[in-house]
Amino acid sequence: MDKYCIQTYGCQMNVHESEKIAGVLQARGMTACADVADADVIVLNTCCVRETAETKIYGHLGRIKSAKKRDAVLIVCGCMTQRSEVAQSLVKRCPFVDIVLGTFNQSLIGDYLDRFIHTGVKTVDIWRSEKDGELRDTPPARTSGINAWVNIMYGCNNFCTYCIVPYVRGRERCRPIDDIISDVDGLISSGYKQITLLGQNVNSYKWQDKKFVDLLKMLESDKKYRLKFMTSHPKDISIELADLFARSNNLAHSLHLPVQSGSDRILREMNRHYTRDEYFRKIDAFRAAVPDIGLSSDIMVGFPTETEDDFMQTLDLVDRVKYNNLFMFIYSRRSGTPADKMPQLDYKTKQERIDRLIKRQFEISKAIAGDSVGKTCEVLVAEKTGSKCYGKAQNDAAVTFDNETATVGDFVQVKITSAVNANLKGEAI
Ligand code: SF4
Repeated sequence: MDKYCIQTYGCQMNVHESEKIAGVLQARGMTACADVADADVIVLNTCCVRETAETKIYGHLGRIKSAKKRDAVLIVCGCMTQRSEVAQSLVKRCPFVDIVLGTFNQSLIGDYLDRFIHTGVKTVDIWRSEKDGELRDTPPARTSGINAWVNIMYGCNNFCTYCIVPYVRGRERCRPIDDIISDVDGLISSGYKQITLLGQNVNSYKWQDKKFVDLLKMLESDKKYRLKFMTSHPKDISIELADLFARSNNLAHSLHLPVQSGSDRILREMNRHYTRDEYFRKIDAFRAAVPDIGLSSDIMVGFPTETEDDFMQTLDLVDRVKYNNLFMFIYSRRSGTPADKMPQLDYKTKQERIDRLIKRQFEISKAIAGDSVGKTCEVLVAEKTGSKCYGKAQNDAAVTFDNETATVGDFVQVKITSAVNANLKGEAI
């Protein structure tokens, strides 16, 4: 058993969990490879947020079956397999899969691998518990360059009506604050220049008498690094956090605040617990505290019962907020969620609406990028090819510039000289 290949679907939470699985396999002396044909252990870390992701995984498993070595061990884990009906169907449809694990049991991956290697016994373990399922004993094999992910909590209590996450990741469990601080300190000391705190709803983090804002204050450091977090919920994000953004040495000037819809009626149907006016008030507070803040959001188009008027309110919200960046999705049914049982929109209407939204946002992002020309920003260099540096500004804008001496991990002052759509070019000063 020399080589492993991990393929990851889904969000940053899954990306980081794959790093933890890689840590377990590396502790056994294995090395990563990119091609499943070369791997002795293949791990497919799955997502089930969209129905299409699930369909794709079955197709992908078929391709792995044809490409893999005959005796390679195939493990499927993640959100999709936490759903018992999916795990059962996977075992029936894909008998060549050796180990199936849910999100709660990934910490046992090493034990099940040993068992399979020594006895040939296959395992399906999607048993749920209140433990967090974190792979703690082995350090993650980090793959995200200058950035390190740090979980602060697991699960979600919100039950948005379109979302499967609370069913596959369980209720909120927060990590002890001292463990998080010690992880972040260790990562900064070992040279990471950006730390991203992870949770489904980081704003509801709580440990004893400490809240999320307290955690961020405790992570303030004289050492130069950028602190980011995801994901935030508009109902829980506090105005106190806006003041902290203004004062902090470390917090990046960027905020991802998923609004999902601009219509109060649809927000109610989604069980989001805020109104558009409340959302505007929070955005205004952050803009007042940090005028150069980069804002991004998620918007879901075509939620069940969405009317043209509801959609126009979403377009109006986008016009008013003027996000730097927007992640736009067509609503996708998930069986087991309340929205799946609501009256659905036809595909043509959803496609036509998302096309209009994408067009509008493209114009906004382009105008914001154009306004940056002539301004100076601090860029954290994430990649370098020859003399060409690529990185992100404080407000999360992507910037490229030429510089012989800058290296990956440097913070460089860059004057923006041109903008192509939302991409900025500049020169180091
Ligand atoms: S806040 Fe809503 S959308 Fe986000 S993970 Fe929880 S239920 Fe899903």
